Amino acid sequence: MPAPAPVTQGRALPRAVLFDRDGTLVVDVPHNGDPALVRPVPGARAALARLRSAGVPVAVVTNQAGIAAGLVTSAQVDAVHARLAALLELPPGVIHVCPHAADAGCGCRKPAPGLVLAAAAALGVPPQACAVVGDIGSDVEAALAAGARAVLVPTPVTLPAEIAVAPETATDLAAAVDLLLVPPGRRRVLVARLDNDGDVLLAGPAVRAAAATPGSWVTLLCGPRGAAAGRLLPGVDEVLVWHCPWIDAEPRAVDRADIDELVDDLAARRLDEAVVLTSYHQSALPLALLLRMAGVGRIAALSEDYAGALLDVRHRLPQTGLHEVERALSTAATLGHVLPAGDAGWLAVRRPLPPLPAEVLALVGGDLPAYVVVHPGASVPARTWPAARWRDLVAALAVADTPVVVTGSPGERELTAAVAGGTGLDLGGRTDLAGLAAVIAASAGVAVGNTGPAHLAAAVGARVVSVFAPTVPAERWAPWTPDLVLLGDQGVRCAGCRAKVCPVPGHPCLTAVGVADVVAALLAHRVAGQGRPPLPDLEARR
Ligand code: SF4
Ligand SMILES: [Zn+2]
Repeated sequence: MPAPAPVTQGRALPRAVLFDRDGTLVVDVPHNGDPALVRPVPGARAALARLRSAGVPVAVVTNQAGIAAGLVTSAQVDAVHARLAALLELPPGVIHVCPHAADAGCGCRKPAPGLVLAAAAALGVPPQACAVVGDIGSDVEAALAAGARAVLVPTPVTLPAEIAVAPETATDLAAAVDLLLVPPGRRRVLVARLDNDGDVLLAGPAVRAAAATPGSWVTLLCGPRGAAAGRLLPGVDEVLVWHCPWIDAEPRAVDRADIDELVDDLAARRLDEAVVLTSYHQSALPLALLLRMAGVGRIAALSEDYAGALLDVRHRLPQTGLHEVERALSTAATLGHVLPAGDAGWLAVRRPLPPLPAEVLALVGGDLPAYVVVHPGASVPARTWPAARWRDLVAALAVADTPVVVTGSPGERELTAAVAGGTGLDLGGRTDLAGLAAVIAASAGVAVGNTGPAHLAAAVGARVVSVFAPTVPAERWAPWTPDLVLLGDQGVRCAGCRAKVCPVPGHPCLTAVGVADVVAALLAHRVAGQGRPPLPDLEARR
């Protein structure tokens, strides 16, 4: 879902950014024909990734007069570009070359506008909506001749006169991209939540609090398992995805180059402050150290551990009672970020959601949601019913004449097929997170274990029938919604086990829940007055 286009320096966010090659994206090797000599300049990868993440396409525009002069062949230049594309993750067809001699009088060689016009046309973007980033005057002139915005990133070969007349300059590639993306004068706030989609959704109200602060620009730092949810959160201006070795459930080895790249990327974002969100079993301090190294002004986090100079606000909360949503809101509030009047702090996702799949649409008859969703999977088996119990539920709903949509991730296809049986509509592996949100939002309710989609259901305002194993306390982790039916024996003696696989024969906390209980909870009429008011308009506030 595209974010609303912010306005920067009175101009709209560029709809495409075109880069010069030599001296701008790669270290200049004159007439290079050797792929092994392609070396991106420092920060190039991160700068391009940042644009990609913002939904801004990129292209490359490069003069290669060495082809006409016989110093390098077209085939060699193609090989160099294949290497460049691989290193910078460029899509096919975005590198535009002028092969002509300097005195050929062609219309494509910069400073003529031809290459810029061709690159813009290939991307389907008007040249006036493009920005060109280059290191010499002819890049700037080509941009201006094409009607595009020009940003000069000077190097030792750039002439003082070229710098003097450039409409905009930046110290390096990262700064150029930052200049293009972030409107001036914003209070730059990073919110970090580095684990899974469900955790990121629970951070949503704290993110909205940051977004509601006048003049803020919110960057969400999340892990690859939380990125899909991060892109759905209202109030997020940018998403930065990083695999965190001390938070991710399947940690990779610590890699110094990777961490250096993150610190450089964070530094380029010139963050004013950061809110590091963690659960009580995670440490905020390693990330606080990296944020410190990146020059972040103020850093707040929950930390029982002594933090020394790592935190400006070492927030502490009693170990009892507060839900993850409240812990996060309370941490954001230490830097002055509070929810505006009219935002009750429930979970939310961006609207509109994607259209429903045709076969689900066919189930939606009349005005009322006609189907229920059964989501049998969970990240670990201790947190959900066994498959046979879910299958019995689907069969019981069929007897009650209630259509059922069974949902699950691509890795849960076998499970969803078995649970759907002959009566449920099996959507296992066929929705991304936004698509799943749409399917749940249009339903009469969802039955689900203690797993990410339970929080997604809460975020779309659906009735959530939670088959909740107390592996972690419900008071902290239950779906955060007023329309919740929480099932499962929360008082079982082994509660708080944090087990992945239940060690107690019979899985008593969940097998205490009968199929009839779930059917009744799903089919009960909604309690009047529990509908959610819409969120206040964050964009209007900012
Ligand atoms: S150990 Fe107890 S609380 Fe944990 S999953 Fe098993 S029955 Fe549930
Ligand atoms: Zn040319």
